[in-house]
Amino acid sequence: MSETTPCLNCGACCATFRVSFYWGETDSAQEGGVPSHLTEQISPHLSCMQGTNQPEPRCVSLMGSVGGAVRCNIYEQRSSACREFPYHGEGGQESPHCQRARARHGLPPLPNPEHPDLVPVVAA
Ligand code: SF4
Ligand code: SF4
Repeated sequence: MSETTPCLNCGACCATFRVSFYWGETDSAQEGGVPSHLTEQISPHLSCMQGTNQPEPRCVSLMGSVGGAVRCNIYEQRSSACREFPYHGEGGQESPHCQRARARHGLPPLPNPEHPDLVPVVAA
């Protein structure tokens, strides 16, 4: 994340989706991987972050309140699912999943990356 990312005052995606990834990303399989004790095995090949496999997800590693100052407690060891999740506007690209997560938590939509003066309408 850069210092201009909206993520530092959001965290909505960490409390919206099941954050799953190949189990081989955990430190059971590779040194420096996602800490296994913070994960849950959900299939023979998939793990997820604890707290995200439930109707009201919230990753166990999310520190702070959604919409306020937040941080990931395992930022350097986070999974590919976390690393590859783009915020809306990152690289000039739209991210409907980001917008949907923000809407779920009552946060305002981020501007259209191609037309920053236009605020999109997002269904909750
Ligand atoms: S929902 Fe979007 S803005 Fe919020 S933390 Fe996730 S990627 Fe960043
Ligand atoms: S590991 Fe970090 S970035 Fe990934 S969902 Fe949890 S708090 Fe968010």
